[in-house]
Amino acid sequence: MGLCGKDVARTRHVGQVYVDQINRIKKEKQILERIASKCENCNRNEYYSIYESFRPFRIIGIPLAQCDTVYYFSCPECNFGFKLEADEFKALEKMALINSKYLEGKISKSEFESNLRAI
Ligand SMILES: [Zn+2]
Repeated sequence: MGLCGKDVARTRHVGQVYVDQINRIKKEKQILERIASKCENCNRNEYYSIYESFRPFRIIGIPLAQCDTVYYFSCPECNFGFKLEADEFKALEKMALINSKYLEGKISKSEFESNLRAI
């Protein structure tokens, strides 16, 4: 048994990123080029869901780190998606976290917009 032990992989829903946000990032930066503006499979999605999957590395039952971390995204309409590279995930994660804060009412619309511009 390796350090990662026998834990089953956990999946964390990081948040959602809207297709127009992906378009904007694609225009400004040389990342996210592999991700189609709309779902390649159904072309019906308004956003993509971003996920992180990992196995907890425990010492004496206490989770201390993540092992075998995998990032991926999927279309909420048809579940089409694929694994993300770490830099792709980082950009999407930032957007997803800003979107979540805004949806939960933790930041104002102007904070939301300036946070997005700062990515
Ligand atoms: Zn789809």
